[in-house]
Amino acid sequence: MKRKNIAAANWKMNTTVQEGIKLLEDLCQQSLNSETQVVICAPATHLHGLGLIESPANVAIGGQNMYTKEKGAYTGEISGSMLVSAGVSYVVVGHSERRSYFAESNDFLGEKAKSALAHGLTPIFCCGEGLEIRKAGNHVSHVIAQLKASFALLSDEEVAQLVIAYEPIWAIGTGETASPEQAQEMHAAIRAFLTEAYGSETAEGISILYGGSVKPANAKEIFGQADVDGGLVGGASLDPEGFAAIINSF
Ligand code: PEP
Repeated sequence: MKRKNIAAANWKMNTTVQEGIKLLEDLCQQSLNSETQVVICAPATHLHGLGLIESPANVAIGGQNMYTKEKGAYTGEISGSMLVSAGVSYVVVGHSERRSYFAESNDFLGEKAKSALAHGLTPIFCCGEGLEIRKAGNHVSHVIAQLKASFALLSDEEVAQLVIAYEPIWAIGTGETASPEQAQEMHAAIRAFLTEAYGSETAEGISILYGGSVKPANAKEIFGQADVDGGLVGGASLDPEGFAAIINSF
């Protein structure tokens, strides 16, 4: 199975609803590679409105977070059904900012991915190491341990439906990017783990995105690596022309 090239925008906690709508409208005015799956992961307040914008068929809307429960007394949380009802088809799970500021554990993130899949949402499952772990040379074992712990809750069929995003924490929002070789090393290690645990058909079908200061100037080289199937893009996704250039970098 040919895996998808994906450019996913993570707007994080940026833009008002009006600004977000303008941002997507401006993006849709650009010439976009129709072969790239584009995902706009926006704040929850924006999702329904963004879904109503007339956009090319390869542009999908994603949530940045969801809760595992279906409904009830969970003030402030959003369920998978709510995301689906807002026109969403992807959801970010396990971004390092959620892991660190909101203490989300590997187990909990496995539950989230399972719940997302049960609602027909595609999780963009994030993993990545901090600077100390990288400096100690333990980055590969750390990332594989994160994935193993979360995926233990998932069936083989569920794992096959994931998108994975490798995001070294030291490169997120810092302007420092992993070199193409560093990205490829980790992506190849993730694919080797997937092959060993789930078989080569599954491993070859899963898109593995790189995230960490992807910009128009470095996207082509990073996306050109054999096991890099696109990017999860924070800061640079807030500029429609720049993000269009990233979408067109495959
Ligand atoms: C992110 O938000 O996942 C991210 C990688 O951010 P940035 O591109 O700004 O480093």
